[in-house]
Amino acid sequence: MAKRNRGKSLIKLPARGRGNCPKCNRTRIKLLYPYQTENGTIDVCKKCREK
Ligand SMILES: [Zn+2]
Repeated sequence: MAKRNRGKSLIKLPARGRGNCPKCNRTRIKLLYPYQTENGTIDVCKKCREK
C-alpha cells in the first residue's frame, strides 16, 4: 500500500479519484482523503485534509 494516492492506482478509482470536494467546492479535484464528519466519512481534497 505504498503511495496509494499517486500514479497508476488512481486510474482504478471511480472517475480516477477526481470529483468535487464537498468541503471547499472545488471541482475536478482529487478526492483522496477520508474526512470524519458528524454524518460519517467523506472524501475531501488535499487542502481540506488536515483541518
Ligand atoms: Zn476541499
